[in-house]
Amino acid sequence: MRFEPGTLAVLIGVSGSGKSTFAARYPSSWTLCLDAYREMATDCAADQSATPVAAEIQDLLLDARLARGLTTIVDSTALMPHVRTKLLARARYWQRPTTAVLFDVPLDTCEAQNASRARVVPARVLYDQHRQLPTTQQLRAEGFTEVRLALAMVTAPAGPGR
Ligand code: GDP
Ligand code: MG
Repeated sequence: MRFEPGTLAVLIGVSGSGKSTFAARYPSSWTLCLDAYREMATDCAADQSATPVAAEIQDLLLDARLARGLTTIVDSTALMPHVRTKLLARARYWQRPTTAVLFDVPLDTCEAQNASRARVVPARVLYDQHRQLPTTQQLRAEGFTEVRLALAMVTAPAGPGR
């Protein structure tokens, strides 16, 4: 997927839907990731006690990059509307285009892929997250310049004879 230079791209999807795999296709400096900052603060990406400090780091880097017109990918679940609203407000402040990248992946695929992640999220959490997944229409209404579907999951893992 190509982004107009200077875009703020917000990845939206449940745990295990392939967001970090998608982000890894771009230069690493483009990606802001709360998991990574929680890990840097506590040695544990899942330690929610470090979410406030991780969010502060993300906010600082987001403004630093958007001010310079650098393409930036936010790799978190972004399932809560208020999280997206805040990100959109920063992009609007710096007058940057925004792309929502929606990982509209079936729950059973997320469950299977989540099982292969370093940090396995409980099934109940995945279920709740999946119910929060916005539609493309919702994302357009929120004000994203562009809404794209991530097509990462069309490829199943290669099996015998494939
Ligand atoms: P995130 O939680 O949304 O960041 O998901 P990840 O990117 O960490 O992906 C979760 C797991 O699914 C990882 O083990 C990936 O290797 C795997 N995965 C990601 N994208 C795909 C895909 O398109 N196909 C398959 N088969 N596996 C994928
Ligand atoms: Mg991830």
